[in-house]
Amino acid sequence: MQQLVLASGNAGKLREFREILAPQGFELIAQGELGIPDPDETGLSFIENALLKARHASQLSGLPALADDSGLCVDALGGAPGLYSARYAGAHGNHSANIAKLLCELDGRVDDARTAFFISVIALIRHPLDPAPLIAEGRWQGRILDAPRGSGGFGYDPVFLDPASGCSAAELEPAHKHRISHRGRALAALLSELQA
Ligand code: IMP
Repeated sequence: MQQLVLASGNAGKLREFREILAPQGFELIAQGELGIPDPDETGLSFIENALLKARHASQLSGLPALADDSGLCVDALGGAPGLYSARYAGAHGNHSANIAKLLCELDGRVDDARTAFFISVIALIRHPLDPAPLIAEGRWQGRILDAPRGSGGFGYDPVFLDPASGCSAAELEPAHKHRISHRGRALAALLSELQA
C-alpha cells in the first residue's frame, strides 16, 4: 500500500477518499492523525486552496499529500457559496445551518433558477518540494431542491438533485455517488494521470 496524507479534517471527505482509493492500493492517513492543523485557506480559487493544503501537509509530514478543495456553486447566487461552502452560515462544517441559509437565499426561485454544480479540485504533491504537482478537476451539474431528501453523504447532499437519477445526492448509494460525483470524477482523472 502506498501511504498518502489527506490534507483535510472533513470526516465525510476522508470516508469517500478511502472508499475510492483503498481498492487502488492507497492507504490514506488523515493529517489530524499526525497532529497537522488546517492551514489558512487564503486562496481565491479552488485550485489555489487545494495546492496550499497539499503543500502544507506534505511539508509537515514529509510524505506525499493529497488535498481536495471542493464546494457548491449556485448559478443564481453568482457561484456562492463557492469557496466558502463549508462556512456559508458561519460555523465551520455546520451542514444543517449551511443548508438552511441556502434554501432561504433561493426561496421563491423555481427549477431553472436553481441550477448548481459541485466542483472538486484535487492536488497531489509527491514530496515537500515537488515543483510539478498533479492536479485534477471534476464537476457535477444538478439543481438545488426545495427541501432536504435522504440521509447519506454529507454537506449539501440532501438538497442537491442529480437530474439523471432523480435522486438527491444523499439518496444515492455511495458507489453510485462516487461514479458520478465531482470528487469521483476528479479522482478518476488523477488516477489516470498517475498511471500515465
Ligand atoms: P473544503 O473542506 O473547504 O473543501 O469545503 C468543502 C465544503 O463543500 C464541504 O464542507 C461541503 O459543505 C461542500 N461539499 C464539498 N463536496 C461535497 C459533497 O460531495 N457533498 C456535499 N457537500 C460537499
